[in-house]
Amino acid sequence: MTTLGEGMTPLLPMKQYGQKVDIPQLLMKDEGLLPTGSFKARGAAVGVSKAKELGVKELAMPTNGNAGAAWAQYAARAGIQSHIVMPIDAPEITRKEVVAAGGVLSLIDGLISDAGKVVASAVASYSYYDVSTLKEPYRIEGKKTMGLELCEQLNWELPDVILYPTGGGVGLIGIYKAIKELQELGWVNEKMMPRFVAVQAQGCAPIVDAWKAGERESTFYPNSATTAFGINVPKAIGDFLVLDALYKSNGCAIAISDSDLLAEQQLVTTLEGTFVCPEGAATFAAARQLREKGWIKEGETVVCLNTGMGIKYPETIQLDAQILEKTGRL
Ligand SMILES: *Cc1c(COP(=O)(O)O)cnc(C)c1O
Repeated sequence: MTTLGEGMTPLLPMKQYGQKVDIPQLLMKDEGLLPTGSFKARGAAVGVSKAKELGVKELAMPTNGNAGAAWAQYAARAGIQSHIVMPIDAPEITRKEVVAAGGVLSLIDGLISDAGKVVASAVASYSYYDVSTLKEPYRIEGKKTMGLELCEQLNWELPDVILYPTGGGVGLIGIYKAIKELQELGWVNEKMMPRFVAVQAQGCAPIVDAWKAGERESTFYPNSATTAFGINVPKAIGDFLVLDALYKSNGCAIAISDSDLLAEQQLVTTLEGTFVCPEGAATFAAARQLREKGWIKEGETVVCLNTGMGIKYPETIQLDAQILEKTGRL
């Protein structure tokens, strides 16, 4: 088992922010506290452990940054060589995490979908183990633990609404799968399912468009761009699974503008002292908008997933500080 101590992240009541947006029962599962600073550690822990067990020597993956950082570090611990391909615009720290862990880093002047094509051909040529989203079966089992923990932390009661910042969608699919399996085991109420909300950025909203049109699959979203880099995925491999979870749970999909999610990042952090990542901030902006529209009803228990730590995105905060002389005064 390859572990860096992942798991059991806090489920925090967001009292002051919740009051402000009229959702007093608002909770945040803070995945930013995991090793490598994002929930990608969960998939990497299980995926790398199984790869090691299967005798894998080298693995390859396309990523928007955080997954590459996590898999490079877990792979290092397991003695596996990683080959990571990410867009040239991916957060700088994630590139450095890969290099620090001895991963082979390639940057591509394009999107994660372009990185995916490069990895697919490398896998064919060099027989690397392909750990792209949903190309091997174990990564999602790691992500599923978010849902198992959430139910345990709520004392096996289900929340009314779960909001998830959706890129590839594996986190959302994983939580949905966890709840279905707990229902089969009889550990949680099998008559109810939380309404899942796929939160995307306005600059990259293929799932939102598909959901609005009632489609089973999404179409490639051209020229996608957003500051919330982890959710810049123009066409998710598992889009049909995300959409299925939305339809079956009476959920919805919503797109947030970059200016709204950055404003919410500042507000949540100021009111709660939790420096959330821009992707996580988008779920708060979505909760606020869905409450205003009445889609989230009075008194409902709502869970926002903060998928990473704000510290990994220093450029999202504008500095406003006075510069003092050595002998200066406040
Ligand atoms: C990868 C990532 C996401 C998107 O997760 P998916 O499961 O691929 O939808 C959201 N937020 C952050 C910080 C990420 O790194």
